[in-house]
Amino acid sequence: GPILVPILGDQLTRDLASLRGRTKDDTVILMMEVWDEATYVKHHKQKIVLIFSAMRHFAEELRDAGWTVDYVKLDAKDNAGSFTGEVARAVEEHSPRAIHVVEPGEWRLRQDFDQWADKFPCEIEILADDRFISTQSEFDEWAEDRKEMRMEYFYREMRRKTGLLMDGDKPEGGEWNYDSENRKPPKEGLDAPERPLFEPDAITCEVIELVEDRFGDHFGRLEKFGWPVTRDEAEEAADAFFAERIECFGPYQDAMVHGQDDLFHSMLSTSINLGLLDPLELCQRAEKAYKNGRAPINSVEGFIRQIIGWREYVRRFYWHQMPHLQKANALNAQRGLPEFYWTGETDMRCLADSIRSTRDNAHAHHIQRLMVLGNFALLAGINPREVQDWYLVVYADAYEWVELPNVAAMILYADGGKLASKPYAASGNYINKMSDYCGDCRYSVSKKTGEGACPFNPLYWHFMDRHRDRLEKNARIGRIYSTWDRMDEAKRQDYLDSAEEFLDSLTPADSAWARN
Ligand code: SF4
Repeated sequence: GPILVPILGDQLTRDLASLRGRTKDDTVILMMEVWDEATYVKHHKQKIVLIFSAMRHFAEELRDAGWTVDYVKLDAKDNAGSFTGEVARAVEEHSPRAIHVVEPGEWRLRQDFDQWADKFPCEIEILADDRFISTQSEFDEWAEDRKEMRMEYFYREMRRKTGLLMDGDKPEGGEWNYDSENRKPPKEGLDAPERPLFEPDAITCEVIELVEDRFGDHFGRLEKFGWPVTRDEAEEAADAFFAERIECFGPYQDAMVHGQDDLFHSMLSTSINLGLLDPLELCQRAEKAYKNGRAPINSVEGFIRQIIGWREYVRRFYWHQMPHLQKANALNAQRGLPEFYWTGETDMRCLADSIRSTRDNAHAHHIQRLMVLGNFALLAGINPREVQDWYLVVYADAYEWVELPNVAAMILYADGGKLASKPYAASGNYINKMSDYCGDCRYSVSKKTGEGACPFNPLYWHFMDRHRDRLEKNARIGRIYSTWDRMDEAKRQDYLDSAEEFLDSLTPADSAWARN
């Protein structure tokens, strides 16, 4: 028999390790739309459309190139509903002499794939996903004996490994990290060129119909669907970013403007995570923009760090920390996720706008995710499992390997500080500085407690107070307690009472939003 090559929905890359060196007449490629994957959490409608449409386009591209592709649509008769079930059907049908598959990104799937050797009467080869720049053993070795695994140091290793922005063995421009130049608040009238949106073609329209029909109760809207679903479209999106937005990407990467959902962000994460764009190539293009004088070093370094630093790091951190990361809850947060995360119905304007963007685009940029939506979940003490489910559901670029470290460790500090040096807790002041949200908000950001006060203000102190034992010893955040201690008793009590009152007013969400 032939070699059976299953290709997963986020492995849409022509030179995938399992295809490299294979001959077309000796290979059957298997691609599967399965119910289990579309519903293990109830993904945003745009996310399912994106993945299925990109898969269908990729299958067509492979067939045009002469490959044999066994493509199982969601509605195919006898669709077994899971990868393992579909691989079993394909084994029956094609009697392969071996299965070659690239390792899945998610731990849950790896457990399944590891059973295949016992289940199927052929040789199974699970190959490393070499679309990443680092290797797992490289990371594991680096992490060994470190109590804290700071991204910054791993990132420097990746800079050396790739040679990106290196001047001999020194960082280009003298600094490894130019983040201090990347915190500009939005100035009045800040306006970014719009990213290209891609009109759904016949394939995408068919998938949209399928999703409306079969996943109608999932979160999110489809009207604005415009994600790249092919490599050509993804490259067009990258071209637009490098031509129009990279210059301002750095300085304004933390800025938020009401109704301006993308600002100068690249919006390329969905394409990178699907496999439509090569991360290293993008970094090389960014470096070239700096060398040609078209973008400042802080923009280019910031972009490169997101990819070879943060993205690589969270991938490896995930595999290093699974499966316990999923259950981590160092701050013992037990409150249910508020309903407004799904409905957007809250008077807190920063949250409402971030949730609206999430619903309309299956996207929000990193400061909305970290410092608005995430900061609120941290301060309010929302149960990590529910927050994790929410992020995994709502973002088109979210796969567990990238979502979990970001949410559990970075946003919620649920790993107790292995990843982050401190919890990223902030009061309304930070949001006011970095956005134009507060001016028209029902709450007053300058009011600290009582009726009409910005809820982030009392929540901040409530959080700091209830985690004093743990956080007081933290060099990066511990100093805050001298401010707290200097307040008079009545003021402190006001903060705590206001926070309690606000927390009591929250309505918890129905769990059916996230899981069936
Ligand atoms: Fe958000 Fe508070 Fe500003 Fe309102 S006042 S937008 S709740 S930070």
